[in-house]
Formats: sequence, structure tokens, C-alpha cells
Amino acid sequence: MPSVLITGANKGIGLAFAQSFAVDGWKVHACCRQPDKAKGLQGIEGDISIHKLDVTDGLRVASVARGMLDEKIDILINNAGYYGPRLGFGEIDYEDWAHTFQVNTMAPLRMVENFIEHVAGSERKLIVNVSSKMGSVAENEGGGAYVYRSSKAALNVVTKSLAVDLKEQGVTVICVHPGHVQTDMGGEQAPLTISKSVSGLRKLIGKVTHEQTGQFFNYDGTIIPW
Ligand code: NDP
Repeated sequence: MPSVLITGANKGIGLAFAQSFAVDGWKVHACCRQPDKAKGLQGIEGDISIHKLDVTDGLRVASVARGMLDEKIDILINNAGYYGPRLGFGEIDYEDWAHTFQVNTMAPLRMVENFIEHVAGSERKLIVNVSSKMGSVAENEGGGAYVYRSSKAALNVVTKSLAVDLKEQGVTVICVHPGHVQTDMGGEQAPLTISKSVSGLRKLIGKVTHEQTGQFFNYDGTIIPW
């Protein structure tokens, strides 16, 4: 049975990923900060393990990884993300910027460092970093959003280096933009439903090849410029 590990799986895109893989018969490792409050995850039928995990807690990441040493992870989805307060030029909260980097940039790399053996020993050997088009330098015409944009741009750089470093082991590493999605982060007015975003991402994840490692994909499978 193939297996997937998803961070930030208690709501939004992460929860929809967990539901979708479970329905298809995958073993799902769903990680979230407060499992006791994760009603959506608790309601999923199928082979699902829920792990308590704040991705900024390095000791906890290492302990969850150690506790799963016998398990293979075919797909690791670094989905947990943080936008933070919407502050413009002249208003930047520098402590919050550091926290945003911890969640969006440093935690995905830490997850890969801790789970590389689980992934490299699996059949699929795929790592998916959920980034954002807002991290694209080429696509930035709106300005602002310094904190979120820079954290996702840096995640894209991390993704590219991981793709180079892990290529010989046969591990594929990509970053994806889920679209502007109706979640707590994306807001109610967002054009894309969670289910459309996740079904597009599932299609992409299903067919992406090792030759495409290190690329930045939109949820519909098209390439996003750096
Ligand atoms: P939500 O706000 O609905 O979910 C964010 C998830 O990240 C929650 O599960 C949250 O957990 C989790 N999270 C935040 N901080 C931590 C942490 N320190 N440790 C563990 N989990 C944490 O947003 P989305 O579902 O929309 O976002 C999913 C991903 O998609 C993010 O990476 C986001 O940046 C990206 N994205 C979303 C877009 C959109 O339009 N929605 C557009 C582009 C990218 P908790 O409930 O405990 O806070």
C-alpha cells in the first residue's frame, strides 16, 4: 500500500489531501498541531495515523521521524503554511517575518532532512513543497506582501537545491502553487474550490517524472516561472 505524509493536515488544502489519498486506499500520515481538535481528520475512514506535529519544533519533527523508522513514505507533502498579518511597507513586524520563515521555508527543509530515509526507501520517492505563485519573482507585479512572498521565494530556492542534491538517490522534489483557493488563508472570495485545487494537484503528483525534478508547477500542471 503506498503511503503519504502531509503536514498541516487538519484543515484547508492539507485536510483535502488527507481525505483524497485515504479514499484512494493510501496509508495516510496526517500531521497537525492539535490532533484532539482535528475533527475533519478524525472523521476520515481508511488507513490513517494522526501525528501531533508543530513543524517549527525540531525535536518533535525528529521524534516523529524516529517513531516511523520502519515505515516508507512514498510522498512527503510539506503543506503547512503561514501568511501572517497583512502588513505593508513601513509596517513590517520583523519577529513575525522570522516566524513565517520558520514555518514556510525552514520547516520543509527540516522535514526532508528528517524523513529522507523514509522517502528514499520508498517506491515513489516524491517530495512536494506547497509554495505559492506569490513566491515567484517573475510574477510579482503587485508588490507588497514582503514577508509571505520572500518566505515562499526562499522555499523555491530550497526546493531547487534539494532537487539537485537528492537527484542521484532517485528522489524527485517539486514545488507547487495550489491556485488561489477558498481556505482560511485564501479567503471566501478566492476563485478556486479546495476540491478543484486538490484534484489538479493529485493529477500532477500522479504523473510528475524524475526528469521534472526541481520544477515549479501550477495546480493545473503548467510551469510557473521563477
Ligand atoms: P489554511 O490556513 O487553511 O491551513 C494552513 C495549515 O498550516 C493549517 O493546517 C495550519 O495549522 C498549518 N500550520 C501553520 N503553522 C503551522 C505550524 N507551525 N506547524 C504545523 N502546522 C502549521 O491554508 P491553506 O490550506 O490555504 O494552505 C496550505 C498551503 O497552501 C500553505 O503552504 C499555503 O501557503 C499554500 N497556499 C495557499 C493558497 C490559498 O489561496 N489558499 C495560495 C498559495 C499557496 P493550524 O490550524 O494549527 O494553524
